Amino acid sequence: MHIGIRRTAVATALALSAALPATGVAGAADAPATATGSHVDVEYFPDPAGEGARTSVPANSPHAQPAADARQRSATASEDGEVVPLAETGPTADRLDVTIIGDGYTADEQDDFLEDARTKWDAVTDIDPYKSYEGLFNVWAVKAVSQDSGVTGDPSQDVVKNTALGSYFWCSDTERLICVDLDKTKTYADKAPATDLVIVVSNSTKYGGAGYSGLAADYGYDGVSTLSSDNARSTLIAAHEMAHSIGLLADEYQYAGYGDYPYPEPAYPNASTLTADDMAAQRTKWAAWLGESDPSGGVVGTFEGADYYEYGVYRPTGNSIMRALNTDQFNLPSREAMIAGFYRSANVLSPLVDTSVTASRFTPLSVELADLGTGLASPEVRWYVDGREAKQARGKTSVRPAALGVPANRRPHKVTATVTDTTSAVRSPAVRDLTSNSATWTVTR
Ligand SMILES: [Zn+2]
Repeated sequence: MHIGIRRTAVATALALSAALPATGVAGAADAPATATGSHVDVEYFPDPAGEGARTSVPANSPHAQPAADARQRSATASEDGEVVPLAETGPTADRLDVTIIGDGYTADEQDDFLEDARTKWDAVTDIDPYKSYEGLFNVWAVKAVSQDSGVTGDPSQDVVKNTALGSYFWCSDTERLICVDLDKTKTYADKAPATDLVIVVSNSTKYGGAGYSGLAADYGYDGVSTLSSDNARSTLIAAHEMAHSIGLLADEYQYAGYGDYPYPEPAYPNASTLTADDMAAQRTKWAAWLGESDPSGGVVGTFEGADYYEYGVYRPTGNSIMRALNTDQFNLPSREAMIAGFYRSANVLSPLVDTSVTASRFTPLSVELADLGTGLASPEVRWYVDGREAKQARGKTSVRPAALGVPANRRPHKVTATVTDTTSAVRSPAVRDLTSNSATWTVTR
């Protein structure tokens, strides 16, 4: 996702470590030898209400406790790796599965972890479009029992804690950057029934966090967000980071000195090399939203500076949560991209009657809809017989084929239930198509 900048960030980090061999590297000497010793790109927010920054960090942590740690084998640690469903809204195949893992919680503090995980998830899902589409998420809390309470670098840089995931402030000598051991994280994430995204909640009141994205090839899920448990400002870090993975969104901030955009038109839905006039003429990117009042304030247009560069690349609004954490609002094009992302991984409609079994004209055919509440989402069910809509059944979740008009002849007929999200937060026909899913049964008399 951040391929272009990753190259730059890695190069910058290498240059820095060459110039400053003594900083940051000392801790790494204590690290257990890892297979790769590899580095990955992370994003962090040095100031709670400010813009983001990116850097390259080790994939593994020097502070993660060994799996067979003596105290971890004690009786009270039998909870280690236990999974508690915080929200189970539907089958994992039809849902986005978020796995929340605690770090820096001892065996005695696991209830505290569950409470913190719930609080954080509730705070993220107070923000639209997460709020309107909360019903498309399953949330799994995985207990990780740490030897020490709290995490490394809290309250000060010299504090070292032995924790299950080895999460630590002062990563890369940056106080607010919480890094984590990605391999340890995966061993816990793998205990959940399914994982599309990971949130690591580090037991701390100090502001901080980070976002790793583009991990799918190595870890099986795209993103890991870290955040401190008991700092309200850190919630926005997770809301921002998950949006990279779900909505495939660009960062809307730029770095001083980065100058002209060196790439062709990016795939990001919220960054473009096109000016408003060209965008409108070509009816591409966020042309459908130009001129609309935006929830982040102001009007949707093309604002120069995005995807880390200053010139020749534009973002949809002056500010948004993808630019700085002084707002919790996604702009209209990003909101639509998020909704597209929800539906890439989730389906509103799940059949309650096996579609592989031939039904009779009198078999009740039932579907279950995700509970999407009364926000932006507006799912609508329609029923079809051999491709023609039976309008009398619109909105129903259970029907008998005979009542739809399936005739009592010898031919098999197809009955299809289709749901489409008619939300006004989507304007692209392609995204509207993504919101749709269906179930089809073969019906004989
Ligand atoms: Zn970002």
